[in-house]
Amino acid sequence: MGKHISRELIQTHGTNSPTRIASERNITVLYEDLGKNTWGYYTCIRRIPVIHVNYHLQGFRRPFAVAHELGHHFLHPGVNTPFLRGNTLFSIEKIEWEANQFALYLLIGDFQPERDETRHNFLLRCGIPEQFHVFY
Ligand SMILES: [Zn+2]
Repeated sequence: MGKHISRELIQTHGTNSPTRIASERNITVLYEDLGKNTWGYYTCIRRIPVIHVNYHLQGFRRPFAVAHELGHHFLHPGVNTPFLRGNTLFSIEKIEWEANQFALYLLIGDFQPERDETRHNFLLRCGIPEQFHVFY
């Protein structure tokens, strides 16, 4: 489900950048001090969608957090979604897992596995740190 929708978005917007897709969909992305453990969360109040991201996030975690919350916007409209936190990243909650999967496929973008390429090598080639491979 997440895989299919992320592919559609990439085609529609001509980019796999979660921040560009958010801005083209009029979704505000706010960078805030959310402390040490919270990566981000999504709100939609009076039909105004906002992605809140911790500005302390470094490297891959930052686009991943934006993409994860973007996933909630498209996959779980009207659902009150939990905060994304470092210690619940591997939560078995269904909507969290779906948002993580969406994020991963969005960030992989147009990359395709080569013949005989292992999943591990393919994902590293896409710039996905090992910790996140489980969502593929
Ligand atoms: Zn979430």
